[in-house]
Amino acid sequence: MKSKLRLIYLALLIATSAQSQQVFSANKVLKLMGCRFEITTVAESDSIAWIALQAGVAEISRIEKIISSWDPTSQTSAINFQAGISAVEVSEELYDLIYRSKKIAQLSDGAFDISFASMDRIWTFDKEEHSLPDEDVVNSARENIDYNKIILNPENHSVFLEKKGMKIGFGAIGKGFAANKAKALMESIPGVIGGVVNASGDLIAWGKNQESEYWNIQIANPKNKTKSLGNIELKNRAIVTSGDYEKYFTSQGIRYAHIIDPRTGYPTNGLKSVTVICPDAELADALATTVFVLGLEDGIFLINKLNDVECIIVSEDNSLHYSNHLQINLYE
Ligand code: ADP
Ligand code: MG
Repeated sequence: MKSKLRLIYLALLIATSAQSQQVFSANKVLKLMGCRFEITTVAESDSIAWIALQAGVAEISRIEKIISSWDPTSQTSAINFQAGISAVEVSEELYDLIYRSKKIAQLSDGAFDISFASMDRIWTFDKEEHSLPDEDVVNSARENIDYNKIILNPENHSVFLEKKGMKIGFGAIGKGFAANKAKALMESIPGVIGGVVNASGDLIAWGKNQESEYWNIQIANPKNKTKSLGNIELKNRAIVTSGDYEKYFTSQGIRYAHIIDPRTGYPTNGLKSVTVICPDAELADALATTVFVLGLEDGIFLINKLNDVECIIVSEDNSLHYSNHLQINLYE
């Protein structure tokens, strides 16, 4: 799998024997939300581990149906279809997700903006070589990006995209949202000791592994793919990476990656990857994308202002940059 695991790879430490109390684990890899999910649960019995795992899978499928902008029957599509026409009443959880997405847009001064999705029609990140769209076309589509025009009504949980042509999409936050929800559900099941929801390298871990230790992940060394740089112990933490290597296209020797700078309407460049570590997968997901747009200096500045949020940034020259309080066990 070619993925963000270039930066991070898991050492899930699924042991076959436990130390004191006997514990059991279940593990499954499957395709959900268009990406590879691996779910692991540790529990007091085999059947609890599997019941929890199945509950987690069902939860992710349920979330996918709500937030997908490809599925024309989803609540999200209903909002997009009604852009410039009328408000749409949605479930409380979708409403709350949009509310939180707007908060992150405010926090980042619009670097993160779920209404970036109006640019979907302009940019195609198909890994192929093609010419850039016309500047006028980019500029006029960019005018449809504006989180202030996502109007929320708390009374009836309705969402209105004020301008025709506007569109929202959860590509930068949805996987983290789904991982959080699945984790919360599995964690609430009596007898569950710990687990990991891993969405192609974006993951949240809780509790302890089968060796009754905290989950641990290796950080790959961008300068030497065969070596890891160090490891991080995840005590109820999410770790999420945004990178420029999965969805992109090239044009005249330049690589354009799938994260759009809402200020210009053009794909961002300058960073190779951004990894965010914090207790919440949704926040980590959104902030990794945000820092990607903000760039090295403004990105690290934002992360250092936030409590209990850390990051690792790999810049274009493969050099590594860390936020102020990151706890990483370096091997060298
Ligand atoms: P990945 O898909 O590799 O996990 P991200 O979490 O960074 O990466 O999400 C990138 C996706 O976010 C894009 O494919 C697109 O759907 C969406 N997106 C792009 N630019 C922005 C932006 N400025 N704000 C919010 N979402 C964005
Ligand atoms: Mg993201």
